[in-house]
Amino acid sequence: MNKESITSYLDSLFEDPICELNYTKDYELVLSVMLSAQTTDKGVNRVTKELYKKYDSLEKLNTLSVKEIESYIKSIGFYRNKSLNFKGIVERLLEIGYVPNDRKFLESLPGVGRKTASVVLAHLFNEPSFAVDTHVYRVSKRLGITKEKDDVLKTEDKLKKFFNKDEWNRVNSQLVLFGRYYCTSKKPKCDRCPFNNKCKKR
Ligand code: SF4
Repeated sequence: MNKESITSYLDSLFEDPICELNYTKDYELVLSVMLSAQTTDKGVNRVTKELYKKYDSLEKLNTLSVKEIESYIKSIGFYRNKSLNFKGIVERLLEIGYVPNDRKFLESLPGVGRKTASVVLAHLFNEPSFAVDTHVYRVSKRLGITKEKDDVLKTEDKLKKFFNKDEWNRVNSQLVLFGRYYCTSKKPKCDRCPFNNKCKKR
């Protein structure tokens, strides 16, 4: 598959790709992306809805104990670790008062790795990034952009070379949505996919 055929199909499916995590404050995005590891965005939105409404500032969130955070997020996976990370992130961000456009700082926050930092940099600061989540990792292989043996870093590197830099953030969001709703892990919708005779899955 060449780049143009991929971008044009993704554009036809997702004209305006959006982040499906709900947030109204910059720090809420950091917290929600951390919470979304190995959990659906819907699950995260469900637990943060009341939490962010009731505690609508870093100062208010900081009044919560880890146990209290657990009580809000206990329906999502790894909630104990995530509650600790949540508390740690709130404390660190409160120290400086804002979310900086700084990958090194973001990756130093508890529970925040390269992928989470990339999502935050792309959505809050429009920094060209490629966050390789499980969907992007799987779809890139099926589309023949990466090879079976490529790890996450190699995948990111290849995606950055394959697509133009000014396309990275848009294509990244589109690949996530494509993997979530079309090129799913099980039973992908191949009948309607224009790549079905070249796809590496077949
Ligand atoms: S043919 Fe199926 S597996 Fe291949 S890219 Fe399309 S939806 Fe995904």
